[in-house]
Amino acid sequence: MAAHKTHYEDCDVLVIGGGMAGTGAAFEARHWGRDLKIICVEKANIDRSGAVAQGLYAINCYMGMQWGENQPEDHVRYARNDLMGMVREDLGYDMARHVDSTVHMFDEWGLPMMKNEKTGRYLREGKWQIMIHGESYKPIVAEAAKKSADKIYNRIMITHLLMDEKKENRIGGAVGFNMRTGDFYVFRAKTVIVAAGGASHIFKPRAVGEGMGRTWYAPWSNGSAYALPIAVGAKMTQMENRIVLCRFKDGYGPVGAYFLHLKTYTQNANGENYEKKWYDQTKELVGEYIDHHPTPTCLRNHAFIQETIAGGGPIHMVTTEAFQDPHLETVGWENFLGMTVGQAVVWASQNIDPKYTNPELTTSEPYVMGSHATCSGAWVSGPEDLSPPEYFWGYNRMLTVDGLFGAGDTVGGSAHKFSSGSFTEGRLAAKAAVKYIKDQKAEDIKITDKQCNDFKETIFKPLEIYTVAQNEITGGTVSPSYILPIQGLQRLQRIMDEYVGGIATNYMTNANMLKRGLELLAWLEEDLEKVGAEDLHQLMRAWELKHRALTSQCVTEHTMFREETRWPGYYYRGDHMKLDDDKWHCLTVSRRDPKTGKFSLEKVPVYHIVDENEKKKAS
Ligand SMILES: Cc1cc2nc3c(=O)[nH]c(=O)nc-3n(C[C@H](O)[C@H](O)[C@H](O)COP(=O)(O)OP(=O)(O)OC[C@H]3O[C@@H](n4cnc5c(N)ncnc54)[C@H](O)[C@@H]3O)c2cc1C
Repeated sequence: MAAHKTHYEDCDVLVIGGGMAGTGAAFEARHWGRDLKIICVEKANIDRSGAVAQGLYAINCYMGMQWGENQPEDHVRYARNDLMGMVREDLGYDMARHVDSTVHMFDEWGLPMMKNEKTGRYLREGKWQIMIHGESYKPIVAEAAKKSADKIYNRIMITHLLMDEKKENRIGGAVGFNMRTGDFYVFRAKTVIVAAGGASHIFKPRAVGEGMGRTWYAPWSNGSAYALPIAVGAKMTQMENRIVLCRFKDGYGPVGAYFLHLKTYTQNANGENYEKKWYDQTKELVGEYIDHHPTPTCLRNHAFIQETIAGGGPIHMVTTEAFQDPHLETVGWENFLGMTVGQAVVWASQNIDPKYTNPELTTSEPYVMGSHATCSGAWVSGPEDLSPPEYFWGYNRMLTVDGLFGAGDTVGGSAHKFSSGSFTEGRLAAKAAVKYIKDQKAEDIKITDKQCNDFKETIFKPLEIYTVAQNEITGGTVSPSYILPIQGLQRLQRIMDEYVGGIATNYMTNANMLKRGLELLAWLEEDLEKVGAEDLHQLMRAWELKHRALTSQCVTEHTMFREETRWPGYYYRGDHMKLDDDKWHCLTVSRRDPKTGKFSLEKVPVYHIVDENEKKKAS
């Protein structure tokens, strides 16, 4: 262990992950905590990290309240509708009422925003989206964080949270290692804000082999945002609500600008509008939800998936009409150049010019996220002026562990935050974290050297396992005494894919399959004690895998608990194929006991605050 030098850093606010939410948190923590010590720790480099690393072409969450375009209530109704009723409306409203101010700061900071020439307003792509030239998006928000934090640590992966040894269920910091130097880092902190993004690669991706890194969701998003809090017993919500996306095939290129701005549309191989073919069948499953406008994202996926199973594929996006307009053709290409260059390269390699050939679409493997059209994540307190008692325990965005906060993909129940809403939520969490410190809630935290040294031993164990077990390599990289991170990852992905509703089964699962999935995940967990890492990069892979495996257990437990198919098109419970509002119009909340590793689950009421309040006012 002596080989790995230990560094100690004491701080007030520790931000884990310098993506959209993390940079927002670092920025806002400085605003409220001028005298506080603020540290941000990032696995990559915050200039180009997180889901926005490459850039974005649109900010997907902007109300436009100054022009009366939308109000926060409208956004709550929108997110509620899209998630088939299951959202935390207090969190959604809170984000929506602040998100415009975030976007106005981005504008001031120099993010190139497109403007509507006639009105002078931001150029709308859709009701909620505004268009940007977003290649520089991430460096711009990173600059704000760098100017705000006392220190940004790049290339450090956080592997575990530290818990106070004096007061039960109170946070004390986090530990991790530097992936370049191999040094061990102990961050003792009064508050921790987890902003480590969502989880890709827990289900087997369509993109395998050489294309493995070319999934829709960033391959480096490994579920630390969930695994870190789960491991210390924080409650999670809606983890069954994984997301499946309809995207351009092979490059996973985004379709939003195509649908909304270019007004392209989809059709089956016979040139038919297949969505209406599945109307009656969908109505059987979900009732009147299919008549909602806009059609919930999962139900549009459902029609796509059913049509493909029925032999109507491939499904195409009709681009050949829109691309005849030179302006739209430019927008279509620029859309990729700003955020998914890979899709343009795939089309070039497959000889597809969307002006003459309608490109193929596909549905992705499932991902776990809390900020997109889905709301998996931590169960957090809402703001005091909005939240009903069950949703409020003192500090906005605080998890069920004292002093531990979350933002962005970390936070469950609040979908459709996207980049701007995640930054906003980081700001909200940081403001509350500073208040928590100023309220003297973080006094006398005790972290012993033993706790830190035990983690140090655990963290670097995969390097030792490899060093010893490499002597037993029987051929290539195979040794009976270790499992390599890539081997473990592929095993995990197959379990999730085949038993928990991935692409292998057209997103279908049931209680028996889930039960078997949980057994296999438990054995995997056992075997991951023997994961071997050849170098520091593989050590990161090993810890990414362990975080993915824990996240997967939680997803599987939740999927087992909710005995209905709430979101056909995201996944199906074959033994409970219908949406069941009588029994399941509720949120699911889990907790894993850190001592036993056992999960317990409960139903929590979903409060429709926005329209309930209006109804009350009216009566
Ligand atoms: C493909 C794709 C396209 C999107 N398109 C749009 C769009 O067009 N418009 C829009 O507004 N939004 C879009 N979004 C949504 C937006 O990117 C997310 O809502 C937002 O990035 C979430 O912020 P976050 O901070 O939670 O996660 P991220 O921004 O992903 O940041 C998480 C950070 O945590 C770091 N990290 C992870 N684990 C650790 C660890 N263990 N230790 C230290 N650091 C760690 C990561 O490196 C990363 O920097 C898109 C998302 C995806 C995936």
